[in-house]
Amino acid sequence: MTKNDRKSRSNADMPVLLQAEGVKKVYHDGERILEVLSGADILVRRGEFVSIVGQSGSGKSTLLHILGALDRASSGEITFEGQSFMKMSSSQLARLRAARIGFIYQFHHLLPEFTALENVYLPGMINRRPTNVIVDKAAASLTSVGLGNRLEHRPPKLSGGEQQRVALARAIMNDPLLVLADEPTGDLDQKTGREVLEYVLGQTVEMGRSLVVVTHDPQIAARADRQYRLEAGRLVPG
Ligand code: ADP
Ligand code: MG
Repeated sequence: MTKNDRKSRSNADMPVLLQAEGVKKVYHDGERILEVLSGADILVRRGEFVSIVGQSGSGKSTLLHILGALDRASSGEITFEGQSFMKMSSSQLARLRAARIGFIYQFHHLLPEFTALENVYLPGMINRRPTNVIVDKAAASLTSVGLGNRLEHRPPKLSGGEQQRVALARAIMNDPLLVLADEPTGDLDQKTGREVLEYVLGQTVEMGRSLVVVTHDPQIAARADRQYRLEAGRLVPG
């Protein structure tokens, strides 16, 4: 599906899934206070592909972790399906994250001593479903990213692009509404990176899920329905 096909579905009419307003994040490092985010605003609708670019150290990972409820903002408002992150307890946030949000980490965080299948289903155990159901879902998830014949491979035996597809399979295994991807193609050559992006798009926006991608690749950023740049702690459109 091309960007224009997706546009014709008119994302602008889709409900808002995630909205952040005035998000600040301050790190205290001994005497030093580092304000990484100084009032970031972002809107993500259902089924929308949103890209974020920005210099190294500008706070992209910090922002994505906050949007994914992996970390808390110092201040500001974040709502997911209308529910305020600020008003939720840590365990409520963990449940929301497990049920609704998939995360692809900057450094894919695959466990080298576990198989591809184990890497996908072990984090999913948090949802406390029967193991056989989870293992079947994980296998289906790996198959959907073209790795059905790599279930028993350990990450060091997989190529960089395949490792990122395992990370994608893990992110989508619980059928999330939102996938957040932190430089999912950053360690790959451009061609492999763009192939991985096609898998990511195929398993997210093309299935009606929302996707937020942090990327250094201008061509990937330009394909998004909406583009942001993180600059001086704020998100500017375009
Ligand atoms: P990016 O992903 O854009 O490269 P990061 O979000 O990783 O940027 O980091 C933004 C800034 O915040 C950097 O200067 C980094 O050193 C700092 N930083 C990140 N995490 C922490 C932390 N836990 N404690 C203190 N400073 C941090
Ligand atoms: Mg980063």
